[in-house]
Amino acid sequence: MTQTVTERLCTLCKKVSDQIGVSRYRTWFEETSRFALVGSRLNIAVPNAFVGRWISANYLSILLDAARDLLGPEASVEIDVDASLPTRTGHGLPPPCAAPAAVRGDAAPRHDRAAPRHDQGAAHVLRGDLVNFVVGDCNELAYAAACGVARDPRSAARPLVIYGGCGLGKTHLLHGICNAVNQQHPLLSWRYISGEEFTNQFINAVSGSGGSLDAFRARFRKVDLLVIDDIHFLAGKKATQQEFLHTFNSIEAGGKTVVFSSDLPPREMSMFSEALVDRMIAGIVVRLDAPDFSTRREILARRAASAARDVADDVLDFMARHITRNVRELEGAMSKLLACSGLSREPVSVALARSCLSEYLTATRPPQAADIERLVAARFGVTREEMHSDARDRAVSLSRSVAMLLVRRHTKMSFPEIGRMMGKKNHSTVLMAKRRLESILSSNGAVAWRTASGEHSLPLKELLDELERQIARPSTNAD
Ligand code: ADP
Ligand code: MG
Repeated sequence: MTQTVTERLCTLCKKVSDQIGVSRYRTWFEETSRFALVGSRLNIAVPNAFVGRWISANYLSILLDAARDLLGPEASVEIDVDASLPTRTGHGLPPPCAAPAAVRGDAAPRHDRAAPRHDQGAAHVLRGDLVNFVVGDCNELAYAAACGVARDPRSAARPLVIYGGCGLGKTHLLHGICNAVNQQHPLLSWRYISGEEFTNQFINAVSGSGGSLDAFRARFRKVDLLVIDDIHFLAGKKATQQEFLHTFNSIEAGGKTVVFSSDLPPREMSMFSEALVDRMIAGIVVRLDAPDFSTRREILARRAASAARDVADDVLDFMARHITRNVRELEGAMSKLLACSGLSREPVSVALARSCLSEYLTATRPPQAADIERLVAARFGVTREEMHSDARDRAVSLSRSVAMLLVRRHTKMSFPEIGRMMGKKNHSTVLMAKRRLESILSSNGAVAWRTASGEHSLPLKELLDELERQIARPSTNAD
């Protein structure tokens, strides 16, 4: 029986999704792109040039293989921009600096790099490099955005804000941008500074103990690229924020670029002036998530390789399964395992990892209901108190239902226990919330809510996947 065009396209899309993973497929194709068959050509319409460049840099050969399987060896692929298609958050980004295949394959850190010669301050050794950054679903957009700035620092129309929890790679990406600019644009001037140093230098300049205020201002305002790590350090420091806002304005007015890292998204920076938050929200804001399993495993494998040690697959799997919170812990655990093996002269094994990594493994305790509530509340921009109230505002009631579902999925709490915890609700309220969401999930539906920053709408599956990635799952005694 011959297939209709739609059926053929479905077969092709399924192949692409199987190859690159459902989550990437959803990010780059399902919600924004449109596929069509014209003779033996597969046409892909994308919402903007960035998406087009990203797809051709990363997925062209997979698309071509899928098209050839379906249409024969003559098949070709054409990618065109159709500005009427919807753009997904983060898809206004500039292009990546290198095809990830090459980037990901580069296991060895580079030692031959000349020391950065720009005025980043003598205290900094900029260790992070974009080429040894392991890219996965958890950090793909942040990596692409960093590469975009590194490739062409002067064309970044808006500031870049990279945010995420501790040890997830913010500083690594910021160092990577500086190192890449240093190598690829030796004539551009840039400055890397932490929020803490910026504050200290400002205080010293104001008090006259660290040079004049004019000299301080000139130091920051004359650069082509200003990179500020841990901007959250400025929280509650009104005068430093005011000064920083002027710096920001002056750099941008000169057509130059500012990159920040922060532990919170700008809209949740409650201890910052509204003007500064508005400026950051207007930028490209990208999140780093906790590393997913394959990223964790790849990072561990690279750490072992860079220490010139052979670590068996079952040990890498065991560690990647049980050390889930951040990359810093993964690195610490691998160093400790290798040191323990050296000292005890025992070979590296799962048994050794189990016995010597207990502090890392206990860190991966089963998720607690309160942690899940906090994550969900932050995602919807509401407080836990609001979630526990009877308010029926869309963001509040949706966050309440999502928290109920996730607590039920990830803890051993019963419906009545969840109801009691979430503001003395009846167990049937929890049951109904779970059923309602499951029915949306079964029809691949989306959910919508409104916050101070505007309207939001996401497929429920995607929202739950994102939250579940952040929920530490494995228990210490499971293998
Ligand atoms: P943060 O600034 O977010 O707290 P860092 O950038 O300091 O985190 O990262 C902690 C450690 O993990 C560093 O040694 C960094 O090089 C490493 N790291 C983080 N993410 C990655 C990644 N994706 N690939 C390789 N190393 C990473
Ligand atoms: Mg950092």
